[in-house]
Formats: sequence, structure tokens, C-alpha cells
Amino acid sequence: MQKDFRVLVVDDDANICETLKDILAEEGYEVTIAGTIALAKERLKNKFYNIIMVDLNLPDGLGLELLNEIKKGKSETIVMVFTGFASLKSSIAAMNKGAFAYLQKPLNMDEVKVTIKKALNVQQLSLDNKALLKKLEEFSLKDPLTGLYNYRYLKDRLFAELKRAKRYVLPLSIIMLDIDYFKSVNDVYGHQYGDIILKEFAGCLTDFSRANDIVVRYGGEEFLILLSDINKEGVVMLGKRLLKTLNKHVFDPEGKRIKIKVSLGISSFPEDAADTESSLLILADRALRAAKEMGGNRISTSRGLGKGNLENIVDERGKPGIYRLKGKLSKMTDRVNQTLLESVNAFARTMEAKDYYTISHSESMVPMVTEIGRKLGVSDTEMENLTQAVILHDLGKIGVPDNILNKRGKLTTKEYEKIKKHPQIGAEIIRSIQFLSDVVPMVLCHHERFDGLGYSSGLRGEEIPLGARIISVADVYQALTSDRPYRKAYAKKEALDIIKKGSGTQFDPKIVKVFLSTMRKK
Ligand code: GH3
Ligand code: MG
Ligand code: MG
Repeated sequence: MQKDFRVLVVDDDANICETLKDILAEEGYEVTIAGTIALAKERLKNKFYNIIMVDLNLPDGLGLELLNEIKKGKSETIVMVFTGFASLKSSIAAMNKGAFAYLQKPLNMDEVKVTIKKALNVQQLSLDNKALLKKLEEFSLKDPLTGLYNYRYLKDRLFAELKRAKRYVLPLSIIMLDIDYFKSVNDVYGHQYGDIILKEFAGCLTDFSRANDIVVRYGGEEFLILLSDINKEGVVMLGKRLLKTLNKHVFDPEGKRIKIKVSLGISSFPEDAADTESSLLILADRALRAAKEMGGNRISTSRGLGKGNLENIVDERGKPGIYRLKGKLSKMTDRVNQTLLESVNAFARTMEAKDYYTISHSESMVPMVTEIGRKLGVSDTEMENLTQAVILHDLGKIGVPDNILNKRGKLTTKEYEKIKKHPQIGAEIIRSIQFLSDVVPMVLCHHERFDGLGYSSGLRGEEIPLGARIISVADVYQALTSDRPYRKAYAKKEALDIIKKGSGTQFDPKIVKVFLSTMRKK
């Protein structure tokens, strides 16, 4: 049985039509009949036919007329012609116009069947090719991860849009976006998770934009929206709304509830003195960098730079090494104040929110951890990060209800699951603080176990950051030797024995060894 193949038979000879219909229907084709060219045209308008079999001489004209029409419409329909007056001339004419076959009356039905099968085969091949070509085209113009357009497409479109804008004196604007601190999303949750966020972010941009806007993945975590017919004032308003929308959005894959901050750079034609594609892009990029330097999560627009300035920018771009270094340096110095402020604020806010959080437990671990670190050859910079990690390692407990943290009896499974979230919560709080980016992994991993049975990710051995492995030993020892709501403090010797027992399973044996020798000396 053929599936859904439609044949249109066009002949004024009712006998031939009926015979063809019976025989082809037996083969499983859906057959429709038309006695005139006009009727056939009507049918073709409403439905796709895989094959048309048309008599060359019809009451209202020549069958070749239909053939012309089909070829003109670039339809994939295959045309076969037949006639009772076999003449070489008309046969050549039909084949030249693109008929697939020329059949003579009286029709040999076996020949008809075979020819139709061949035709369908050829048609399928051509359809497959077309689909493949379309896919290929799409692939080369779209970013596979987000499904957004890529830089290649943008270049062509921007060229065309700018030309149109100039010719019809219409405005054209660009919003360039770069996600703030995106690296830390990867650091904390892994690259794959970062990919999921990027996809969702792309979806937000698409949802936000108008039908005619072009949304592009410009780079890794950089995006661009090309907006035609919208001027500087309009695009700034839109940008503000977009920033608000993005700030409000909670990215919630796997229930991790992440918020994203983003910087936007805007440039517009004709307001900015930029009349080429590259100068518009450069201005948007420059504005974007300005937004970053001011601390991120904001909009900045180019301020109609003069031509001379533009050329300077182009020159800078030509020396990527220096350009990047310079950018990095200014970014670091300009942002240091902002990030410090941010971190202090974040910290203060969280400390205020809950008063059970006792920083003394964490602080008293610092000397112990520092000593172990030094013995293990940790560098000065790493030591600074390690110290900060020690202070912050339990910060996430502010996200765990008090009644669970202070419970005297045994925790239920559900309650324990909530406690187990604290490294993740802590990591999420400090994730957006740039200068703490190296601290995040240690906070996140301080409850991992050397044998891989810990949380949050089940990392094992050296997969766990060294700092986290050190903190884990000190943390447990510190907890054992202090009074808890549910038990009295262990004696020092008892606590050391417990740590020793955990060597190789809960703890890194190398660190336990250093830890024990340090403690014994005291
Ligand atoms: P800034 O606030 O200065 O923009 O900081 P940032 O961390 O967002 O920017 P930076 O340019 O330092 O790093 C960009 C990061 O984006 C680094 C890279 O790991 C990540 N990234 C780029 N492309 C992809 C991707 O396709 N998938 C994932 N998961 N991450 C990506
Ligand atoms: Mg970037
Ligand atoms: Mg970024």
C-alpha cells in the first residue's frame, strides 16, 4: 500500500479517467479526476499532487499549459503527458518543458504503473535533497546550542538593514548583552548546566523581542538584538524593560533557582555618528564594556562618538593582545570597589536576616586551616582564598530553617536533605561576587567525602578542591570539640581518633596526616 500519494488525471475522455482511477486506486494511490484545464488548475490550487497525468489535447486548451504553470510555481509535482495523436514534435516539446514522461494512447497500464513508481522515487530524492539543503542552510546561520542566529547571519542582515535604514531614512538600533559573572555559573554548577542556562536565557530574549527583531548569539555568553525602525530613545526604553525582565527571571533548571545579571550596550543609527556595520557594532561593544566597568547589571549607550574616536577604537582592536590586557586591567581596577561593596552588602544582609549564624565557629577554624595549608605548600594567593572560604563555608545555613539547625532530636530524612543544601546555597550567594570566584568551589564542596559519598555533587578524591578537603577535616574536628544542641563536646583525644578513623574514607589521608601531626604538637 502506498501512503498518501496523490495523482491528478486530466483528460476529457471519461473512459480513460475511470480506467486509470480503478487501476491506480488498486495500487493504493489517491486519484482525482479533472476533465478540463480550468478544473485541473482549481484542484492544484487546493492540494499538492505528487503526479499529474495530463492529456495534451483538452477542450479548453493544450495540456502543456498546465506543465508551464507547475514549473513556474517551482512545485515538486511531477507531470506526465499522454495523447492519442502520437507525434514526435509534441513529445519533444513536452519533454523540453520538463515533463517526466510521455505516454502514448492506448495506454499500456503496466508501463503506467512502472513509470509512476519511477517518478515517485525521483520525487522523493528531490524532496529529501531540498530538506537537507534547508537544514544545512539553517545550521550554517544558526547557533546549535540556543537556536538563535549566529554572527554570520548577523553580518549579512546588519548590512542589509543598514542599507535600508539609510535609503528610507529609518532608525536602526543594536542592543549588545553580556551575562555578568557567567564563568561562575560554570564553576559552581558545571559547564553543562551553564549550557542549560544559556539556552533559557536565549529563550527569554526571544520571548521579549518583537517579531521583526533579530536575536543573535554573538559569542559565548554574549548576545545581540538587532532592532529595525527603532531609534535611540526607543531602544533605551526597551533596554530598560529588558533588563528588568531578565533581573526578575528565576532560572530554575533542576530546582537550583539562579538569578542572572547582565550588562547591555546600545548603539543607534543615525543618532550615533556610526554609518557602517562595524562601527555600530564597535560602539555597542564599547558601551557594553562601559556598563561592565560601572559594575554591571546596567545599560550604557554610546554617546555619538566622533569619527576620529572611532578610528582609534578600530586601531585598538587591531592589537588584540594589548587591547585585552588593557581592558582587563581597567575592568579589575574599576570593579574592585563595586564588588567589595556588593560582597559586604550581601554578607551583612544575610547576617542580619538570621541571628543563629555564629561566625565564631568558622573563625576559630582559620588558624588550623592555615597551618595545614602552609604545610601542604599552598601559595599566598590560594591561602587568601582558603581563609575566605573558611569564613564563608557555612554561610548557606541561613537558607536552612532554624528549627532544623537547632533540633535536639534525630533529623528526619527530609530535614537532613534540607541541611544538605547549605553548601549549594552558600555558593549561590557568593557566586556573583567577582573576587570570591575562587572561593565558591571550596564552599560548594566542603561536605564532599574523599570516597565520593558526600554532598553536594558526590565528587571523590582529588576531584574535590584541595581547600575543600582541608576545610572538611577542620570543620568536623571543630564541630566534634564543641557543644551542640543535641550532644556535649567530645574530648580532644576522642575527636582526633574519630578523624583518624575517617582517613581514606571521609577525609583525604594526606591531609589527616598533616592535621594529626599539627594537633599533636599542640
Ligand atoms: P563578566 O561579568 O566580565 O562578563 O564575567 P564573565 O565570567 O561572564 O565573562 P568572561 O568573559 O570572563 O567569561 C565568559 C564565560 O562564559 C567563560 C566561559 O566558560 C563561559 N561560556 C562561554 N561560552 C559558553 C558555552 O557555550 N557554555 C557554557 N556553559 N559556558 C560558556
Ligand atoms: Mg563575555
Ligand atoms: Mg560575561
